[in-house]
Amino acid sequence: MNIEKHLTARADLNGRNYDVVIIGGGISGVCLYHHLCEAGYSVLLVEKADFSGGTSQASAMMIWGGLLYLRTLDLGTVWKLSKSRERMLRDFSEWVKPCTFRYLPRQRSVYWRFLVHASLYVYWLLGLCRRGKPSACNIFPELEFLSKQHRRALNYEEAQLQTSDARFVLQWLLSNQDDYCQAINYCPVVGGSYDPHGKVWNLDLEDQIINCQQSVRARCIVNSAGVWADTLNAQFQIDSPYKHVLSKGVFVGIPRESKHEVPLIFDTPDGQDGVAMIPWGPVSLWGPTETAVDTPNAGFCADPSDVISLLSDLNRHLKKKMTAADIVSLRCGVRPLAVHKSYNGHDHPFRLSRRHRVHLDRDSPWISVYGSKITNCVLLAEHITKIIGQFVPVRDARPRATIRRTVDMEMISFPGLDQLVPSATWCVQQEMCCTLEDYLRRRTNISQWVPRGGLGANGEHRNYLLQLSEAFVDGKGTTAEEMVETYERKIEHQFDRVLAEC
Ligand SMILES: Cc1cc2nc3c(=O)[nH]c(=O)nc-3n(C[C@H](O)[C@H](O)[C@H](O)COP(=O)(O)OP(=O)(O)OC[C@H]3O[C@@H](n4cnc5c(N)ncnc54)[C@H](O)[C@@H]3O)c2cc1C
Repeated sequence: MNIEKHLTARADLNGRNYDVVIIGGGISGVCLYHHLCEAGYSVLLVEKADFSGGTSQASAMMIWGGLLYLRTLDLGTVWKLSKSRERMLRDFSEWVKPCTFRYLPRQRSVYWRFLVHASLYVYWLLGLCRRGKPSACNIFPELEFLSKQHRRALNYEEAQLQTSDARFVLQWLLSNQDDYCQAINYCPVVGGSYDPHGKVWNLDLEDQIINCQQSVRARCIVNSAGVWADTLNAQFQIDSPYKHVLSKGVFVGIPRESKHEVPLIFDTPDGQDGVAMIPWGPVSLWGPTETAVDTPNAGFCADPSDVISLLSDLNRHLKKKMTAADIVSLRCGVRPLAVHKSYNGHDHPFRLSRRHRVHLDRDSPWISVYGSKITNCVLLAEHITKIIGQFVPVRDARPRATIRRTVDMEMISFPGLDQLVPSATWCVQQEMCCTLEDYLRRRTNISQWVPRGGLGANGEHRNYLLQLSEAFVDGKGTTAEEMVETYERKIEHQFDRVLAEC
């Protein structure tokens, strides 16, 4: 859908009736949106910021069977995630590709290596032997930049998202925009109530792009607001047996060595968790950390302590040591971990289950989603579609939609990048891109691949960003100069300040 049609559809929402309204445009919400649209429901998805503006832009982009959860013997989760990984590889082969991972065990005793190798076999079996068999290797390209302690690795196979997690999110939406199904960014839900007589939800929306308040009706609501799900439930007085524990995860992006070919997995210094070095365009992502935080907002910006601990751990593995000055980008998100609402423990987040939970409030049809991952988005969407099918009859099933191919995308070069990126005009016209940050962070990977969020180490790309900003319309009448200034301030706060304190 192009921008004109999209804006007309936005302006036309008031008073409309939908079968389902989904709140939250992260991976859980958008994948469900796609499934409900193709099942024949009329669906509205509303996102308070940009699509994938929450945790779904900050992942490791792995579609994995949950190898690390073998340490807590959570075989059920590993089984389900492995099944999900295979589904994603089969059905979305343009977006999800198989990928060799190299595990570099910390302890070098023969006993430990045997144990790790045996675990990889169990993992492979739990994945029904569909991936390549685990194997030991002594010669691999990454030895060129790794410190001498690493002489042996164990290879195993997982899958990985191509391009980025944020673009993966977008693809679920773009092919399903018509008279019955709309997905809208920058449109928070600000209020609403359930009418038990009419059996319908009335929701008040604040569209920040066309600057108006609208009301819509829905027979069922899905709260897929990720780490904000508990706040949203409280706002609408929805009681649920579950809640979220929030776990912050930070990556640093460093310049990629030419011999860094595949994701490398290391043990953390305490041996309790894993840490990855993931090649991604011109950078290698190192992380993530895992720390409990009290509020979502506390987790979406890296602290100097996160970066210091990541760098000190990283330098144990490298021949050439890195400093804060080498860091190209920071990447930060908050994992929503599902726990029972009576949980008051202080376990390390790593100890908590990674299972997702879904709760239906039958009195006022409202479904709350807890603890989802990118890997299991399809199984989760199918599960919720089935639940909705029990009380909202399907209208007529429409032809199965496929997630859109992007061959016709207009590509341009960006200073300092070898890879071409989608043009700003194209993203505005075709992909509901409203601000400079949407473009640099979620429609392209510029802000993660070019230093200082794409501004350049010394701000040398500022004028280029100014030109690009002429394309964006954020609904507030912001000029290109103001948009760049706002972006610069954000980078100064979330990147320059953090690294200066390291
Ligand atoms: C560091 C890190 C690495 C990870 N790596 C992986 C990995 O490799 N593989 C994997 O499978 N998973 C990974 N995960 C987990 C995965 O990224 C998340 O669990 C997943 O993205 C959560 O998606 P979501 O849609 O539930 O939440 P989100 O992506 O946070 O989406 C929720 C959305 O709801 C919106 N919202 C909130 N309130 C409202 C409101 N009132 N009105 C409208 N919209 C609202 C928010 O703006 C947000 O966009 C990782 C997580 C982290 C933090």
